[in-house]
Amino acid sequence: MKYSFANRMHGVDESFIREILKVTEKPEIISFAGGLPNPGLFPVREISDAAQKALACKGESALQYATTEGYLPLREFIAQRYQLKQGLEVSPDEILITNGSQQGIDLVAKILLNRGDHVIIERPGYLGAIQAISLYETEFHGVSMEDDGVDTAELEDVFKDHPIKLFYAVPNFQNPSGISYSRKKRDDVAEILKSTAAIFLEDDPYGELRFTGAKLPLIKSQIREQGILMGSFSKITVPGTRLGWVCADKEIMDKLKVAKQAADLHSNFLSQVIIHQYLMDNDLDEHIEKIKNVYGQQCQCMFSAIQQYFPAKLTCTKPEGGMFLWVTLPEGVSSMELFEKAIAENVAFVPGGAFYVNGGGDRSFRLNFSNSTEEKIETGIKKLAGVIKRML
Ligand code: PMP
Repeated sequence: MKYSFANRMHGVDESFIREILKVTEKPEIISFAGGLPNPGLFPVREISDAAQKALACKGESALQYATTEGYLPLREFIAQRYQLKQGLEVSPDEILITNGSQQGIDLVAKILLNRGDHVIIERPGYLGAIQAISLYETEFHGVSMEDDGVDTAELEDVFKDHPIKLFYAVPNFQNPSGISYSRKKRDDVAEILKSTAAIFLEDDPYGELRFTGAKLPLIKSQIREQGILMGSFSKITVPGTRLGWVCADKEIMDKLKVAKQAADLHSNFLSQVIIHQYLMDNDLDEHIEKIKNVYGQQCQCMFSAIQQYFPAKLTCTKPEGGMFLWVTLPEGVSSMELFEKAIAENVAFVPGGAFYVNGGGDRSFRLNFSNSTEEKIETGIKKLAGVIKRML
């Protein structure tokens, strides 16, 4: 071997999704593989106006170095929104602006985890978190997902058997499964956490994208400083500005700021000023309403096509929000094998194995509905159904 890489790089593969996305770049492919928002909903003109205004009014300061924690008016906006939408009292000082919530996962792992530390993640779980946390050479414990959230009996057992330091979860419209925790699961998880010393990392990029069902409280609102909450502008405005945030107690925040400073001094300040200007001049709720309407229709379209064309032996989640749904194949049918056959017919998805720590997921796969037209969803699901029927 030509280079001697650090131990932490061993065993962390290049994201399988990145590999898949290379295959799916071909224009003839109908891809349900990526996790991309619908670009037709990007407020391009409004962001362009905001950019011009921000540069005209705050040119020099918007282009200067800035503070590590992020643009105060933007942090104030986020804190006020938590109060308004969730009844969660948060000070702007408890918000750190990051390069997407992806950087939040990395920074939280960096300040908390030593090599060999024990971490819980859902099975299936968010691939980006598996990748980011793996770099700190931790030991993962997967806890199964049920239709209404994580299996709390299994969760309790894992807490009993291991000195867990961090529990990472996506309780709203999870990536990859689309599953949301019920109120009972939220309460039970909060109760279990209270009897432990673990930190709960609640990753919530999709929470505002609920298209059916009743809104449920954040787990952080029950466990307060034991919880670190993350949010993102990626799914409610645009992902290209790379703006997310971490919301944590002051003691944690001080450490996060040191880690963030060492990583990149601060997040792109021009992006922060532009997005803040956009938020001042436009109604975010109205914009989110538009996104929810479209995603709700796309989800329904995919769900109905699955009901219509897939063999009855397959099961599928029915998400109440977010961007993904999750399919489970009958015993003995491999989603990896299905992936290879489907690609040959120009349809792509992500096989389930990628989302499982310590193996599993061979019979399941993730479908993204936000990035395809209803026509493509219908055609793609029909084609996929044909491949599945031939495999059964
Ligand atoms: N967490 C989850 C659960 C996600 O699905 C994503 C995006 N795929 C992220 C974090 C990262 O998003 P961003 O960095 O754009 O905020």
